[in-house]
Amino acid sequence: MSPRSRAALLSDPATIRRQFPLLARTRLHYLDSAATAQMPEVVIAALQNFGTTLRANVYGGVYKLAREALAEYEAARADVARFLGAASPQEVVFTYGTTSALNLLAHSFGERLREGDEIVLSILEHHSNTLPWRALARRRGAEIRVLPMTPEGRLDLASLKDVVTAKCRIIALTHCSNVTGALTNVAEIVGSARAVGAAVVLDGAQRAPHGPLDLQELGIDFYAFSGHKTFGPTGIGVLWGRGDRLADMPPFMVGGQMIRRVTPETAEFADPPRRFEAGTPPIGAAIGLGAAIRWMEGLDWGAVANHERRLTGRLLEALAGLKRVRVIGPVTTEQRRGVVSFTVSGMGSEQVCRRLDAYGLALRHGHHCAQPLMLTLGIEGAARASIAPYTTEDDIDQLVAGLAEIAR
Ligand code: PMP
Repeated sequence: MSPRSRAALLSDPATIRRQFPLLARTRLHYLDSAATAQMPEVVIAALQNFGTTLRANVYGGVYKLAREALAEYEAARADVARFLGAASPQEVVFTYGTTSALNLLAHSFGERLREGDEIVLSILEHHSNTLPWRALARRRGAEIRVLPMTPEGRLDLASLKDVVTAKCRIIALTHCSNVTGALTNVAEIVGSARAVGAAVVLDGAQRAPHGPLDLQELGIDFYAFSGHKTFGPTGIGVLWGRGDRLADMPPFMVGGQMIRRVTPETAEFADPPRRFEAGTPPIGAAIGLGAAIRWMEGLDWGAVANHERRLTGRLLEALAGLKRVRVIGPVTTEQRRGVVSFTVSGMGSEQVCRRLDAYGLALRHGHHCAQPLMLTLGIEGAARASIAPYTTEDDIDQLVAGLAEIAR
């Protein structure tokens, strides 16, 4: 956790918002942070600083600049480890995003699956937490079992007892749905997994932007998230794995930077995390992510969560009053984050978002990389508004006013 005293933590939404140059420069109502969050000034400065004072490759250089670049890269790893509650920075693997973290995992940890083994996913998953596992199942002759959802749009954990069998090796689920915003009760999943010796993988892409975690306490095995959703740069992400799990895993990509010794015939690989970081990593982006993590640690997350919950409640309540609008997901603020998807009857989600764009409202439309979920719901897609620490009441009120206009 942050070493800062509580009093020094940032809690005022207006002060937080002022730290985002892009938001300060425009009148845009940016309601698409679940796709990509904006970057605060300190992150932009860290990227600039990398380009002007630090840029060098990270391994194999003994000159001062290379040592400084490496020190900052490893400091960013330590920042991420602290944010996640990891046992050590060596448990943090830098990837290019959530998608690349989950593909790495399926290709590395997954390769030891045998024919007939089972992988449990849910109907709520993003394609990034579905397709790598399906491809793995095809390669290894494994079976996919799918956890359904409740009518409210949450993982149906009551079905765990039917879906998780003694053959289950991996349970890979979302920590927070990018469509319904529902938060996952991890303890129940870990309980089911332990009973059969399966590993638990959480897709944290939508949870990590909402404050520090304690992954050791959660008792899971792997966690993935993206830098660009946690107020950092694009092109960087994280795979966290428990040390004993990572130590046991073969590399996915092979090449430079990840070896111990290569002869004309053989190769020995470095220990984690380097074993999983083949080639030159996104050095500047990792350093930028470190700055984003430190920025997040400077926020009073109790106050930020209250702010986000208040805005989410305000939006849900207003949407409930609009006749043609239907919310996809929980309609209260209980156990959910401010990711709010909805449909407008008689209008496609693209048309809804195009019309909202005319009012300066930036929302995402479509299937949100969760087509199986859309098929299950019998809809083409949904419009989605997502709430961040810098979102204002005015953003929400303008959205409601715009929707009231177009749904008239
Ligand atoms: N999982 C979830 C739940 C997501 O919301 C996203 C981003 N839309 C991803 C995975 C994929 O993240 P990325 O595109 O950064 O790899």
